Amino acid sequence: MNKKFVISLIGAPASGKGYIASSLVNELKETYGFKDKDIADISVGEMIRREKKARTPLGLALEANMKEGGLAPDEMINEMLLEELKNVKAKVLIMDGYPRTVGQVKEFGKLMKHFNSAVIFRDTPKELILERVKNRRICEKCGMAHDVGDGVCSCGGKLVKRKDDEVLPERLAEYEEMTKPAVMELKNHGKNFFWYEGTAEGSDIAKSFLEANKDYLQEVLA
Ligand SMILES: [Zn+2]
Repeated sequence: MNKKFVISLIGAPASGKGYIASSLVNELKETYGFKDKDIADISVGEMIRREKKARTPLGLALEANMKEGGLAPDEMINEMLLEELKNVKAKVLIMDGYPRTVGQVKEFGKLMKHFNSAVIFRDTPKELILERVKNRRICEKCGMAHDVGDGVCSCGGKLVKRKDDEVLPERLAEYEEMTKPAVMELKNHGKNFFWYEGTAEGSDIAKSFLEANKDYLQEVLA
């Protein structure tokens, strides 16, 4: 069987990873002829939430570990992820937010022996991210996104900051401390690492990245 192609998207919180992911999906479909069923999004954060909610042995262990204040143990996450990546029917898997720590980078190397893989890293300066989200609001009532700072929605609802924007400074600090060293590790020792400027357009990133990994795409389609 042809190896699945795993794309790992890494970047600071609110650096536009979601937009890169959707650009990748569009480009895969339009230029390379992939179908929706060929492509899957893999979110490690969501998998952890799911395990905890279902109170699986792994979920319980992760919860116990996190209660003590630590990050989820890397090996456990790795096992969970391997199962998920193997079971998913899709051929191209877009993985958001993994690996995030130096420990996970080590596990990531082992994990990716089962797949073809590449890392997209978008290097966005903190100042740029904070500037971008400064005026970002959502309507308290209807949930519509606005870009105007404080005010009132057309539905009459009050505009408030998104919950994750409110804690963004803390998340950025954690990113600098935990994830930046992991990125450097990947950059220096990982295979197939693609670095992009924070100002690069998401759709341009998707195009040039997929072009550079054409061989993997052809292999997976064959
Ligand atoms: Zn509204």
